[in-house]
Amino acid sequence: MHEYAVTKGLIAIAVEEARKAGASKITLIRLVIGDLSTVIDESVQMYFDMLSEGTVAHGSKLEFRRVSARFHCKDCGIEFEKPKIGFDCPKCGKMGMLTDSGKEFYIESMEIE
Ligand SMILES: [Zn+2]
Repeated sequence: MHEYAVTKGLIAIAVEEARKAGASKITLIRLVIGDLSTVIDESVQMYFDMLSEGTVAHGSKLEFRRVSARFHCKDCGIEFEKPKIGFDCPKCGKMGMLTDSGKEFYIESMEIE
């Protein structure tokens, strides 16, 4: 039910933004989802259709853009994209720490009418 809460928050933000912009309808919402986010696209769209009923966001399409997870090595101080296998720093081979990117879920932009 993780998506339920996430989608509810998403609609609240979208509706508020649309209201500020004086829009009567939202036609498209572009979302950014981190690779490591547990959010599933299909579930979000399903909850979105259900929860947006009666709001300006109802009937809007959702577009998802996945961004890859990034790790930080505290020894080298570098940031790197998650390697295909494991989480090791490409420079020193020590295990990297996960940064906030990769877990994000937010609205990138919207199209309104
Ligand atoms: Zn390193």
